Amino acid sequence: MLSTQNFPQEALPALLEQYRIFVSQELFPIDLQVVTGPFKSYLPLLESLRTKAKNMGLFAPHLSRADGGIGLNLVQFAKVSEILGQSPIGHYVFNCNAPDIGNMELLHLFGSEKQQEKWLKPLQKGEIRSCFAMTEPKHAGSNPIHLSTMAVRVGDSYQIDGHKWFTTAADGAAFTIVMAVTNPEAPSPYQRASMIIVPLDNPGYKLLRNIPIMGEAGEDYLSHGEVKFENCIVPADHLIGQEGQGFALAQERLGPGRIHHCMRWIGICERVFDLMCRRALSRELDLDKPLAEKQTIQNWIAESRAEIKASRLMVLDTAEKMQELGAKAVKEDISTIKFFVADVLMKVIDRAIQVHGALGITDDTLLSFWYRHERGARIYDGPDEVHKSTLARSILKNYLSNG
Ligand SMILES: Cc1cc2nc3c(=O)[nH]c(=O)nc-3n(C[C@H](O)[C@H](O)[C@H](O)COP(=O)(O)OP(=O)(O)OC[C@H]3O[C@@H](n4cnc5c(N)ncnc54)[C@H](O)[C@@H]3O)c2cc1C
Repeated sequence: MLSTQNFPQEALPALLEQYRIFVSQELFPIDLQVVTGPFKSYLPLLESLRTKAKNMGLFAPHLSRADGGIGLNLVQFAKVSEILGQSPIGHYVFNCNAPDIGNMELLHLFGSEKQQEKWLKPLQKGEIRSCFAMTEPKHAGSNPIHLSTMAVRVGDSYQIDGHKWFTTAADGAAFTIVMAVTNPEAPSPYQRASMIIVPLDNPGYKLLRNIPIMGEAGEDYLSHGEVKFENCIVPADHLIGQEGQGFALAQERLGPGRIHHCMRWIGICERVFDLMCRRALSRELDLDKPLAEKQTIQNWIAESRAEIKASRLMVLDTAEKMQELGAKAVKEDISTIKFFVADVLMKVIDRAIQVHGALGITDDTLLSFWYRHERGARIYDGPDEVHKSTLARSILKNYLSNG
C-alpha cells in the first residue's frame, strides 16, 4: 500500500508519461459518452480498459508490488492521481477510486487475515467493488458521533439495524463497511461506534434507491445509495479491529483520502482549464477576434492558472509531510487543502462554463457533469465550514499556549 516506498524515484517521470498517454489516448475519447450513460452499458468496455492497464503494469498504482500494484508512495501516487483525475473514469479504470481505495487501506492496515483473504484480495484485483456506510439521514454527518445504527452482539454474531444514505457506489458493490454503535455506554462518544463488514447479498440489507443528485440518479460506481439494515445478521468476526475503534479507524482512512481527492480535483481543474483556453481561442466574437482577446477572459485564465498551481504545491507539500510524520501531524494542512482546493475546483469549473456560454451547461462537454458531480466536494469528507473552524481553532490555540 501507500506506506510502501519502493518505487524508484528516478523512474517516476517515465511512469507519469505512460499514465498521461493512456488517459489522453484511451479515456479522453470515450469518457463523456460513458458518464452521460447509461453507465452500466459501458462496463464491458471499462473492463477491457482495466485489462489493458493490467497488461501494461499500470493497474492499482497505490498497491505494493506484492499486492499487484506498483509500490508508489503517497507523494508519487498523488502525482498519478492528478493525471487520472483528468478523466472522470480514470481512477475507476486503474482501480484506485473512492471509496474502494479507502477500504483497501483500512483492510490492509486493520483487517484480519480472514477478512483480507475474503474481501481485500478480490478488491485489489478489481474483481469486486465496495462501499462505506457512515452518514445517516437523521443525524448531522458533519459531526458523526451521533449515529442511530446499532450493532448488537448476539452470541457469535452482530445484529445490525439502521438507515444510511450517501453510501457512494453502493449499487453493485459486494460489501460495505458499516459504522454502527456497539458500545452505547462508552464514556467518550468517540469510542461507541465500530466498523463492521456487511456482504451486500445479506437478506437484512437493502439498497432503497440510488439518490438522484442534481437531476441525475447515478448508477454503479457513480451511485449514492440510500440503504437500510434490518435484522441484518453478520458473524462477529466481520468486526474490523476492536469494538469502539470505529472513529479511530475512520481518521486513518480519511487522512490519505483527502490527498487523493485533492489531487483528483486538481486533475479535473487541468482538463477544465484546457477546455476553457481552447474555447476562448476558437470562439470568434468580433470579426476575426476570438473571445480570448477580452481582458475578463484573460483574468479568468490567469487566476485559474495561479490557483491550480498554488493548490498543487499545497497538496504535495501536505502529502510529503504526511508521508514523513503521519496523518495526525498534518491536521492543519489537511483542513487547509480540503476547503481551499474544493473552492478552486468550483471556481475553475464555473469560469470554464461561463466562457463556453450556453454550450457550457449542455451535456455536450464534461463541464456540466463535473459541475453537478463535484459540487459535493465542498461537503463530503468534512464540509468547508468544519475544516475552516478546525484550522482557525488550532491556530488560535497555538497563540494562547504561546502567550
Ligand atoms: C458526493 C457525496 C458523497 C458521499 N459519500 C459518502 C459515503 O460514501 N459514505 C458516507 O458515509 N457518507 C458519504 N457522504 C456524506 C458526507 O460525509 C456528509 O454529507 C458530510 O459529512 C456532511 O454531513 P451532512 O450532509 O449530514 O450535513 P450536516 O452535518 O447536516 O451539515 C449541513 C451544513 O451545515 C454546515 N455546518 C456543519 N458543521 C458546521 C460547523 N461546525 N460550523 C459551521 N457550519 C457547519 C455546513 O455548511 C454543512 O454543509 C457523501 C456526501 C456527498 C455529498
